[in-house]
Amino acid sequence: MLRFSDIVFGPIHSRRLGSSLGINLLPPDGKLCNFDCIYCECGWNRDGRTLKPVLPGSDDVHQALEAKLKDLSASGVRVDSITFSGNGEPTLNPEFAEIVEKVLNLRNIYIPLAKVSVFTNATTISDASIREALKKVDNPILKIDACSDKGVFAVNRPSGAYSLDEVVRNMKYFEGNFVLQTMFLRYGETDLTHRECLEKWMELVRQVRPREIMAYTIDRETPDKNLSKCTISEIEEYTEPLRKEGFNIQIRG
Ligand code: SF4
Repeated sequence: MLRFSDIVFGPIHSRRLGSSLGINLLPPDGKLCNFDCIYCECGWNRDGRTLKPVLPGSDDVHQALEAKLKDLSASGVRVDSITFSGNGEPTLNPEFAEIVEKVLNLRNIYIPLAKVSVFTNATTISDASIREALKKVDNPILKIDACSDKGVFAVNRPSGAYSLDEVVRNMKYFEGNFVLQTMFLRYGETDLTHRECLEKWMELVRQVRPREIMAYTIDRETPDKNLSKCTISEIEEYTEPLRKEGFNIQIRG
């Protein structure tokens, strides 16, 4: 399973973002997420628990990122994106908003052409301070993998209460200025390969109107071994109605 032991890692090649310098705001020796997706590259939550999770504070992130950016600029390495991803859900770090400010500031100083991107499962966007921090980055990348609460509980396995209606309502505050990430895979009766689920998911997309849709499928080892990936041509077919309506859709196999 893919886990990161440093606060700043890479740059690594990202299918979606190019040369990507990762930022891990979660424990260096485990996983922390309020989802437990059946396809998570970090593995099951139960296998990533740490006795005392230690999360980096904003000063730690600032220090680690500045040192790395100095090194990279000395060696002429290109960075297309500074990307919050790592061992779980970045917005669970209590200093997330402050960290975003510091990262944006360092980006402006050292690599002004690079984007700042955040992969989030969107469960915390009901919190106005997190939402506002996400609105400041170039690419807030928010997840919807299903068309109903039942589907979310099957594929993302939230650890607490979850309401897709509420997530959709809060996504509307972004006024379309975000990227929607959706995983296409086969796992059972609520997956998006079923026509009825797909139609409902498209209805949700039309409500939140993201400026871009990242549609992708499994790329690495998954904790649940009974999943099967969709092909690029299948995803193209599933998303074709939205493309015809003018949505910008990026597909990664
Ligand atoms: S939201 Fe992301 S980090 Fe959390 S379980 Fe799902 S894939 Fe893993």
